[in-house]
Amino acid sequence: MLSDNIFLKIVEGKIPAKIIHSDDQCLAFHDIHPQAPVHVLIIPRKVIATHDTLQKEDAPLLGHMNLVAVKLAQELGLVDGYRLIINCKDQGGQTVPHLHMHLMGGRPLSWPPG
Ligand code: 5GP
Repeated sequence: MLSDNIFLKIVEGKIPAKIIHSDDQCLAFHDIHPQAPVHVLIIPRKVIATHDTLQKEDAPLLGHMNLVAVKLAQELGLVDGYRLIINCKDQGGQTVPHLHMHLMGGRPLSWPPG
């Protein structure tokens, strides 16, 4: 996993991103290397490094991020379905040390992942 939290720089407006949703709890923007016709990242404004460091107090935030995913899936036309992914730490494939949810769709997605 990278040591640099590039997503915090996006939250702070220090580097650009194609932001499609912003509120007091989270941001959503297009992934820089999309793996599907729709590939959006939903991230909390709060710094949470990995999924396994979530605390009880973060439950409403995660619920909110899921509802933002539903809204964006509708706005982006993912009527036939989509996939939500949270990669956790090295074996989960996480590269950026800031919790993020991938919203992917627009093509059939195979299972199981690699
Ligand atoms: P992870 O592998 O940590 O679950 O996912 C990190 C994702 O962030 C990758 O899909 C990668 O393409 C994306 N990403 C990395 N750096 C940037 C960036 O600077 N801007 C944007 N928009 N996406 C990024």
